[in-house]
Amino acid sequence: MPELRQDPATKQWVILATERAKRPHDFSKPAVQVFLPEHKADCPFCPGNESLTPPETMAYRQGGTANGPGWWVRAFPNKFSALVPEGSLSRKEEEGIFRKMDGVGQHEVIVECPQHNLCIPLMADKQVEEIILAYRERYLALREDPRFKLIIIFKNHGSKAGTSLEHPHSQLVAMPIVPLTIRYRFEKAAGHFDDEGTCVYCDLLREGLNLRTRQVLETERFAAFHPFASRAPFETWIIPKAHNASFGSITMDEAKEFSLVLKNAW
Ligand SMILES: [Zn+2]
Ligand SMILES: [Zn+2]
Repeated sequence: MPELRQDPATKQWVILATERAKRPHDFSKPAVQVFLPEHKADCPFCPGNESLTPPETMAYRQGGTANGPGWWVRAFPNKFSALVPEGSLSRKEEEGIFRKMDGVGQHEVIVECPQHNLCIPLMADKQVEEIILAYRERYLALREDPRFKLIIIFKNHGSKAGTSLEHPHSQLVAMPIVPLTIRYRFEKAAGHFDDEGTCVYCDLLREGLNLRTRQVLETERFAAFHPFASRAPFETWIIPKAHNASFGSITMDEAKEFSLVLKNAW
């Protein structure tokens, strides 16, 4: 029997139809194991090819010079950025009921390691830790810019998720507006607080910890679990156990612990 489940955080209903997973797929292709090289001469994210990317905004390296090899995590503006950092938000224009403004923002690529063929679960713990510390560093730096209202860090894994380059990388977008999906979550959380007097994410965390069947991993300060109303198979959330509203307030120690949860919950 299919089941409808409501996500308490968004009030959105999802259909859990396990039978649908068994339907025949005429177009499904057998999984092809592709063996990637550790270094690819024409990859713009591989060491030695730094000149193929815009100048770096941050890199972890010992010795060497900026925009040269020797780094283990490296960030730079996305060459095909959706938004540009130059510009002012005071240039808002109105035409009747229509409003527009400059596409100001920062869109960065964070290359996660020098090796072309690694992925987070296969990296050394220390390397994953350095990636999260880089996320934190860039987040804190961009948060200082008063034009930005939201900073999102995300990663598309695999071609089906829309990534155009194989080399392990994440992206960061700092933008002057808050998209509808985030505003919606914020409004629903505020509504939950008005009705129940509690934080909906803290409530979800408590449920996730109680129902051990959906739990993936728990450490001193974080828990990873599959949400009750998952929107996709294997959807996993990592939530800090202490109420915390912003990734920007994560400490160095918490960032290290988070990196271990991320790696092992993958
Ligand atoms: Zn590469
Ligand atoms: Zn909370």
